[in-house]
Amino acid sequence: MKRIIVAIDGYSSSGKSTMARQLAREVGYLYVDSGAMYRAVTLFALREGMASQGGGLDAAALVGRLDDVEVSFRLMPDGSQHTCLNGEDVEAQIRGMEVSEMVSPVAAVPEVRHRLVAMQQSYGRDKGIVMDGRDIGTTVFPDAEMKVFVQASPEVRARRRVDELLAKGESVSYEEVLANVCERDRIDTTRKESPLRRAADALLLDNDHLTREQQMEWLLKEFSRITGK
Ligand code: C5P
Repeated sequence: MKRIIVAIDGYSSSGKSTMARQLAREVGYLYVDSGAMYRAVTLFALREGMASQGGGLDAAALVGRLDDVEVSFRLMPDGSQHTCLNGEDVEAQIRGMEVSEMVSPVAAVPEVRHRLVAMQQSYGRDKGIVMDGRDIGTTVFPDAEMKVFVQASPEVRARRRVDELLAKGESVSYEEVLANVCERDRIDTTRKESPLRRAADALLLDNDHLTREQQMEWLLKEFSRITGK
């Protein structure tokens, strides 16, 4: 059976990661969450005092220290993947609001992108991979056989994210999360280096009114059509 590259892009909290992870599991592919890589670099910048909420980002200092940042993934016994920063499992820390509020400025730094894009491309060398992010179908894998662009309204995305954070015990308000979602959309779509946009050949999935099951059904049907399986 033909092994392909599946690129799933879209706005923050559009449910990309959940569907990408599920598709990879169903079809036996490797899954890579590229956003987690930008989040790990952001955590490094916060810890090293090169970024602070309200205080902005010292991009030059971060670029100077990129050789000291190693991002990797660890497969857990339950099949999930945890993101590691210099060998330390930072999966929980990278999902909090502190990192969410700084990640888009960090991801707009060209040197950060070049480094992470090169790593992402190396993961796809043997195909058989599902990767989600913002620029996967446009920059990381412009020749991916299957590209999906996911969209949903900011309100629906903020509501989902609040539920997720509350379930993890983080106390957040809907307004705070909605503001973060809109601000990340703004930075991600207007940055100079590979801004978030739909690739011309990407399938569009608007999931405002779809359940997870309906979404998966659609995705698997498209996957079968493209792989001829
Ligand atoms: O997907 P997630 O919301 O975890 O991504 C966090 C942030 O990382 C995004 O808001 C975006 O700024 C950045 N990102 C990116 N390119 C990617 C994946 C994520 O710029 N391929």
